[in-house]
Amino acid sequence: MNPPNPSEITDNIVVSLDYTLIVDGEVLESTADAKPIQFIQGLGQIIPGLEEALDGMALGDSKTISVPAAKAYGKVDPDAVQKVKIEEFSEDVPLEVGTFLDLRDQEGDTLSAQITAKGEDTVTLDFNHPLAGKDLVFEVTVTELRLATEEELEHGHAH
Ligand code: ZN
Repeated sequence: MNPPNPSEITDNIVVSLDYTLIVDGEVLESTADAKPIQFIQGLGQIIPGLEEALDGMALGDSKTISVPAAKAYGKVDPDAVQKVKIEEFSEDVPLEVGTFLDLRDQEGDTLSAQITAKGEDTVTLDFNHPLAGKDLVFEVTVTELRLATEEELEHGHAH
């Protein structure tokens, strides 16, 4: 027999969550017209401040959670802003201010950067997360809870 579904959020529980993300009074993201997000609590799959606030919430609970920048995407890092020579890009890359580029670093990881300025020979790339320095407000509802399977815990994500 399967063990009963958990009634509240603790580590290693697969959580389904409806949420709306509000930043500076504006709705940035919402699951209202989509499926709830699903993640395993305690594995750092979501931002630390949200994971902390969800701990102990019961199935069906709704809550408004304020997460300060320090527990969300961190402070804006001035060192994460770099000038790069335009000649280093292939010609088909649209180098316009405001554009987000996916770039590969030396380890092959993908980094996202926004072009924040363009000069004659260089563009300025900002590697900070777009929400760095922002305080976030989440309106959440817990829609489903279940134990993670051994396979999910091994993989580190919900299936
Ligand atoms: Zn997997």
